[in-house]
Amino acid sequence: MERKEGQISVNTENIFPVIRKWLYSDQDIFLRELVSNGTDAISKFKRLVQLGETDADANEAYRIDVVLDTDQHTLTVSDNGLGMTAEEIDKYINQIAYSGAVSFLEQYKDKGDEGAIIGHFGLGFYSAFMVSSQVVINTRSYRKDATPARWTSAEGMEFVLDAGDRAERGTDIILTLNEEAQAELTGYKVRDILHKYCEFMPYEIYFTDVVSDREQKSDREKRYKEQVEAWEKRKAEALEKKEDFTEAQPTLYEPAEAGPVNHPHPLWQKAPKDCTDEEYKAFYRDTFHDYREPLFWIHLNMDYPFHVQGILYFPQAENTYETLDGRIKLYSNQVFVADNIKEVIPDFLFLLKGCIDAPDLPLNVSRSFLQNDSYVKKLSEHIVRKVADRLTKMFEKERDIYNGYWKDLAVFVKYGCLREEKFYDRMKDALLFETTDGEFKTVKELGQKIWYTTDKARQVAYIKRAADAGHTVVIMDHELDNPFMSMLEQKQSPLKFVRIDSEVDAAEGVIEHQETFEKLFRRISGQDKLTVEVRALGEDGPAAVLTESETSRRSQEMRKQFERMQGKDSGMDFDSMFPIEQTLAVNTDSPLAAKLRSLADIPAKKEQGDEIARQIYDLARLSHGSLAGQDLADFLSRSTRLLNELD
Ligand code: ADP
Ligand code: MG
Repeated sequence: MERKEGQISVNTENIFPVIRKWLYSDQDIFLRELVSNGTDAISKFKRLVQLGETDADANEAYRIDVVLDTDQHTLTVSDNGLGMTAEEIDKYINQIAYSGAVSFLEQYKDKGDEGAIIGHFGLGFYSAFMVSSQVVINTRSYRKDATPARWTSAEGMEFVLDAGDRAERGTDIILTLNEEAQAELTGYKVRDILHKYCEFMPYEIYFTDVVSDREQKSDREKRYKEQVEAWEKRKAEALEKKEDFTEAQPTLYEPAEAGPVNHPHPLWQKAPKDCTDEEYKAFYRDTFHDYREPLFWIHLNMDYPFHVQGILYFPQAENTYETLDGRIKLYSNQVFVADNIKEVIPDFLFLLKGCIDAPDLPLNVSRSFLQNDSYVKKLSEHIVRKVADRLTKMFEKERDIYNGYWKDLAVFVKYGCLREEKFYDRMKDALLFETTDGEFKTVKELGQKIWYTTDKARQVAYIKRAADAGHTVVIMDHELDNPFMSMLEQKQSPLKFVRIDSEVDAAEGVIEHQETFEKLFRRISGQDKLTVEVRALGEDGPAAVLTESETSRRSQEMRKQFERMQGKDSGMDFDSMFPIEQTLAVNTDSPLAAKLRSLADIPAKKEQGDEIARQIYDLARLSHGSLAGQDLADFLSRSTRLLNELD
């Protein structure tokens, strides 16, 4: 053919600085782009075969080869797809591929901010220049009379297009790696990139590390030679001694060709009814390297009104929502796009693990655009709905199983409800609360006033009191529970959550001596605002119970956050900003209270009365969990002293 030379475009000076910049964002995508071009070329060829436009064998083995040669500093990506003629190179590479890259960058060049670009979505063919000092396309079209063509470009600025030498149909893209890339792209690294981006691409991908293979081969041959020499020596010795020698000559071990590095048929493509539990579990294990079995999963498989396929797994709880890397992998036509793109998938779903293949995603756009795209919105809503449907159906039909999973699901569901109104709306009747008896109940089953404990062990006395009074107590001890309860109170008014140490529930009516006790305990506690009530809490009950109102407790929690943010010594008057509202309920049924009352009338016994009052007040605080520091030390020494006084 006629040799041709040319300038790719006048704009080239704009493009390469930007491409170079990408080196620092995500240069690995170049390989995904080249391999997926090979994949496209094979798909196109297969279609031609189907249409009868070529007489090639429909069952041909299609494959992509990635060959690294660290001696020559080359990385070659070959496919046996449809190939290109010189005219096609001129059109698709020089004009279209280039203009595609330029317009892509045009769109972002002024944004200046790397974050604004989805670094994961490539420039296609041109991203090869991120790692190459030279790129060669050596290709032969499937067309009968096609002659092979070769395109060579250094730095992507100019090209030479002339005759190539590829004997078979298909394309080799030969990259001469630039210096940085030579250091970076070891055999391990290339394998890693293939694993990350090409794991589920639709045709078999084989990786060859030429230098490493050669070294291993020469090692094998060396070892073989040594074995043969030793064998010959033994044979000669046997001959000399006129002994029998039956030992077989060692053979050279040649390993079989390594299999493909990818899995061309990911499980999500299979019809859900044809997938076994074992397959789902194996896919989970292989993809997420999680040795613990998933609880259950959702197989997304939808054609209309848009395409989406995938599998979402509910993992066993980790009780954290922080390390969420690589949990929801997004694919477009089996090509890996990125992990955890929150513009596409609501971030609470990152607590799950899974793969989603959404072939129609508009990928060559900025993240902020994705967020407002109506396709993306629909896709995200669809996924949220599927997840909620799966859970509510289980709640309705298999309540026992659902109860059993709740501990693992709780963080995910609560976080989802807080993050996503639509999810809450679907889930609101299927929210469970674990009771101190180990049961799982809904709001409907618990009623409009829900008693809860934040610490089952420390609040045991209150739990017992509540249980004796016939209340069910639920456990709310996760850091998400406070915002979760507030949200529910807001949305399901008049629903109220009440911590068990915030009210004492008892027979009303006994108000005698209230004033006496109030004076006494205010003096003893040093808290002149302490509310003192008199209650009948039973003869065996504690002498007094300390409670703190729900508002006060929440406000004390706010105070802690404020102190953290502002610093304790900020000069702000935290005490008046966040007043403590505590109530001491004195049990008139208790013999101790009667004793206290009678002592109060005898001036000579004041000392003794104070001592008992102090002990009662401290016991109430101990049970409440608020006795600490010097007060606790005082309580301990007083108790010891009292024991010593016993005769
Ligand atoms: P895109 O893949 O989005 O079309 P690219 O820049 O990756 O853009 O590639 C540009 C064009 O070059 C492709 O559309 C295709 O026509 C051609 N091409 C690239 N690689 C190959 C290949 N391995 N075999 C055949 N054609 C190719
Ligand atoms: Mg491409």
